[in-house]
Amino acid sequence: MIATGTPGEAAHARQIYVGWVTAGIELCQSVVTSFSDAEFAEPSRLPGWTRAHVIAHIDGNARGLGNLVTWARTGIETPMYTSMEQRDADIEAGALLAPQELRARFLQSSAQLADGFKSLREEDWSVQVRTAQGRMIASREVIWLRAREVMIHAVDLGGDVTFEDLPDDFLIALTDEVVARRGTLPDHPAIALRAGGHGWDISGEGAPALVDGTLPQIAAYVTGRSSREPALPGWL
Ligand code: ZN
Repeated sequence: MIATGTPGEAAHARQIYVGWVTAGIELCQSVVTSFSDAEFAEPSRLPGWTRAHVIAHIDGNARGLGNLVTWARTGIETPMYTSMEQRDADIEAGALLAPQELRARFLQSSAQLADGFKSLREEDWSVQVRTAQGRMIASREVIWLRAREVMIHAVDLGGDVTFEDLPDDFLIALTDEVVARRGTLPDHPAIALRAGGHGWDISGEGAPALVDGTLPQIAAYVTGRSSREPALPGWL
């Protein structure tokens, strides 16, 4: 995430997030439309999920975050999901849809969420809403959550898109956030990440292990999407 101390900075961050959402959706769309119907059933880059599962998840995420947009606009508490069981069941059901239908649902919910962001008034962006993990956030962060989802899952879909295709400023914001989060996890190994001129230190157990590489390689590693050592626990 980008620091948002003043209202001007907050508005600027929102613009950047919206740009990342648009770019991420375009990447997802290019991958999804490159798949034949049969390829929907092939494994994604996420363990245990087919490409159809990932698409159903991106679709469900748009609908869930859309509920938070409604919450911000109306002030009426509207949770992302009825329950985590329901969220998971929706992904399983979505993955069983005919590819044509799933593709259409994904395009529709992505566009609808983008319209939802446009519908918010200035004051709506500071309304506090709750994430699926139970964290209270300002609604402006919902755009960041969407950006994170569509960028990372564009890679997870298992098509041509890799971390190399994601913008550097996004990868830096992502790594900043994941490093901060990892520093709060119990029993996490201490790690020194280095990518060219950028460096991050994850506080944790033991002497810090040095992991260096390009920015895309470091972002892939820190989000648990690399086979490099030391192996990392999940971050969400
Ligand atoms: Zn996700």
